[in-house]
Amino acid sequence: MNKIKKPQLLRKWYRCPVCGCKLLIYDNTTSCANVFIKCRTCKKEVKITI
Ligand SMILES: [Zn+2]
Repeated sequence: MNKIKKPQLLRKWYRCPVCGCKLLIYDNTTSCANVFIKCRTCKKEVKITI
């Protein structure tokens, strides 16, 4: 019997493009556009498109 492997969820950190700190975790099924998050480190709003 062959076991069918489930596709693994790849979790990645979305990093702030300004200062490079970790903002949020997403996986490979995530898709979003026009989401804004305010970075706590550099206090700039970052537009997230995954
Ligand atoms: Zn930042």
